[in-house]
Amino acid sequence: MPELPEVESIKRTLEKNILKKRILDAKIFWPSAVISVPGEDFVELLKDKIIDGLSRRGKYLLLHLDNNYTLIVHFRMTGRLVYYKEKTTVDKHTHVVICLEQGELHYSDIRKFGRIQIVSTENIHDVPFLAKLGPEPLDESFNFILLGQQLAKKKSSIKAALLDQTVLAGLGNIYTDEALFKAGVLPQRNIESLKVSEIILLYDSICEVLKEGIKAGGTSFRDYRDANGNKGLFQESLMVYGRAGQACKVCGQKLTKAKVAGRTTVYCLGCQK
Ligand SMILES: [Zn+2]
Repeated sequence: MPELPEVESIKRTLEKNILKKRILDAKIFWPSAVISVPGEDFVELLKDKIIDGLSRRGKYLLLHLDNNYTLIVHFRMTGRLVYYKEKTTVDKHTHVVICLEQGELHYSDIRKFGRIQIVSTENIHDVPFLAKLGPEPLDESFNFILLGQQLAKKKSSIKAALLDQTVLAGLGNIYTDEALFKAGVLPQRNIESLKVSEIILLYDSICEVLKEGIKAGGTSFRDYRDANGNKGLFQESLMVYGRAGQACKVCGQKLTKAKVAGRTTVYCLGCQK
């Protein structure tokens, strides 16, 4: 599932190709992929509009159009948005094609959990799932004090809290496990048991793993590709995620796998307390 660094990488690779480009047409091949307005209205709202800007909120990608509408892409498990310079044939997983004055944008999704919707830009803060999102961890205004305040709202394990998008926007299973490893904190730890020094370490670790993930162009553990169809490289730098049973890269101890917050979780009993 694309997390903050993957969606940020999609945004950055798209910016180079679609910014200020005019949309000529849109084709919907699987109608359920488009939510909030009927398909014909969706096409009408896109036609002849210019993509004025791109942004990201948590794991959502936002394409701002010059008619004051915004396209929101929810990638969920296996959603992909790829830019092709030339007209390209669609396959059975392509659900929406946006034809630009130069090239095409293909939205595809093998598992069909992802969605695209269009909303008026003015009302974007009222869209329920966006309104509920917690702070952006990489925002300059975010810090360890705010992280502590956000965590204090929850009475769960630290892993469950970090996965909760209302606590913090953008983290999923990969970067949560990596940040907890870097901070030396066991994922099962109850939030109330965390010392201030550990929250500071956790804040620094979250920012570091996210920035490293963005720098590497994201993690392509299974399906993820950026908007040019390329894989990210962060999987090569992963310390714990996907490495259960292998030796810890720091202390050599065999990494442990357990279900925490309902998710497969990998950690090191030697490095995390
Ligand atoms: Zn270790």
